[in-house]
Amino acid sequence: MIRQDFSRVDPKRRPNIDPKRRQFADPGFKQQDYDHRLNFYVVPPTAEITLEEFEVWAIGRLKVLSELEGCSFRNRSQEETTTYMTSILEKHMPLHANSSRSGILQDERKKDHYSHFILRLAFSATEDLRRRFSRLETMLFRLRFKDDDLKERQQFVDSLGLEWERVEEEERRELGAELSAASGLKKVDEQGWFKVDWERVPELVEQRRVFLKRGKAYVPAREQLSLVVAEFTRRLDEALELTARALPRLDEDDRLAPILAHLSQSFTAPDAAYSSSDAVDGLSAPTAASIDTLSQHFPLCMQNLHQTLRANSHLKHYGRLQYSLFLKGIGLSLEECIVFWRRSFKLITDEKFAKEYKYNIRHVYGDVGGDANRRGRGYTPYSCQKILTEALPGPGQSHGCPYRTFSTDILVSLLQKTGVNEREVLGQVREDVKKQRYHIACNRVFEWAHKREIKKVKDDGSWGAAELDTILHPNTYFKRGWLLKHLGEGNVGVVGDGEKMEE
Ligand code: SF4
Repeated sequence: MIRQDFSRVDPKRRPNIDPKRRQFADPGFKQQDYDHRLNFYVVPPTAEITLEEFEVWAIGRLKVLSELEGCSFRNRSQEETTTYMTSILEKHMPLHANSSRSGILQDERKKDHYSHFILRLAFSATEDLRRRFSRLETMLFRLRFKDDDLKERQQFVDSLGLEWERVEEEERRELGAELSAASGLKKVDEQGWFKVDWERVPELVEQRRVFLKRGKAYVPAREQLSLVVAEFTRRLDEALELTARALPRLDEDDRLAPILAHLSQSFTAPDAAYSSSDAVDGLSAPTAASIDTLSQHFPLCMQNLHQTLRANSHLKHYGRLQYSLFLKGIGLSLEECIVFWRRSFKLITDEKFAKEYKYNIRHVYGDVGGDANRRGRGYTPYSCQKILTEALPGPGQSHGCPYRTFSTDILVSLLQKTGVNEREVLGQVREDVKKQRYHIACNRVFEWAHKREIKKVKDDGSWGAAELDTILHPNTYFKRGWLLKHLGEGNVGVVGDGEKMEE
């Protein structure tokens, strides 16, 4: 779908394309018409666009998806998300209804269609990316579905040809009591009902809002949103699997591969939500010897790594990486970091340490290595988002976020060891974790541990809402916690992501 005058494919490679891959060699270019505002993205685009459009459209969609992910991370309600996203969607990916009579409807829908498929290519490479992409695209679809023109929305649903089996009147009467109990509807005959395989409506099943019988879920018409959204996700998940299998063929196209790699990297950037001002200015430079004391202010992910390191005199690779980046973020110098790890790995010789571990620490700081270290700064500390969306740690590994990786009982006993002893808070943490709201649990613990100081800065107005916004980064957790515990010591100003502290 890229216009040929922008092609940078080595012409010598074209004749060698495998005949089985003809669909890539000879795509049937075709302009599509978009009757509906909403799209299930079933038919891939085949018309021509420029490389610039390819990249700009994808970046626009990426911006929208990232903001949506931010909303879910900040635990915004559906209404808050809708309000927050309105201007962002209008700016990056406007999509108007037919009734708006806009003259650029087709252009908007084309951009929406193409950008979806471009990101599908970029984010189908790993299971983690596929899962995130599917979740965010589903959020976007739901948002648009809800605010679509009612008549046009129904026309769209009718056009999908979904195979929902209607529940006949006789069966509806027979099951009246069960349907009423499950749906909460007093009069079950006031609306139509559908039977679908229960796996197709996991959300309704999970919330116990449907009656189940012989593998079928009985869904009232008012739950159409859930049905359509579940179908959207199911089809997208299947399509992503297929895309992943076709992906190696794209390696032949040296126009697209770098753009796609760049897009997926910006989606997984480890430094999201980190700013260099997360290093604590008021803290005199930490040293290898001061880490034990400072660790009382660390978030649970880093406290867990610290305790494991102290218990075993060792940490596996990903744990070392996560912890070294965090320590670098709080201002530990490379030299002190090397001393810290050398002293911590008590059971090995200097020679083994120098040979197997030192290089990695220097690499983290950008002292050696290429790629991400090109500008000599090394890697940036991992955000909660990065830590929370990585594969779960294997046996013997301790990295990740304990709110996600530990069983609830072990998590609670770990929290108790760190001093969280209020039953109500621990109960709320259990609830948060059950709902997979891990960073909310972490923020809850932070607020409990600093409740007196938070009250003080709120009461005297020295910190505003922005400075006390949800914590999204382990280094912000440390910085905010440290500053709160050192209030009034003369060097403390305001604290927040990306804000300068005042002397
Ligand atoms: Fe660490 Fe973030 Fe998990 Fe808190 S939510 S423990 S800061 S990764």
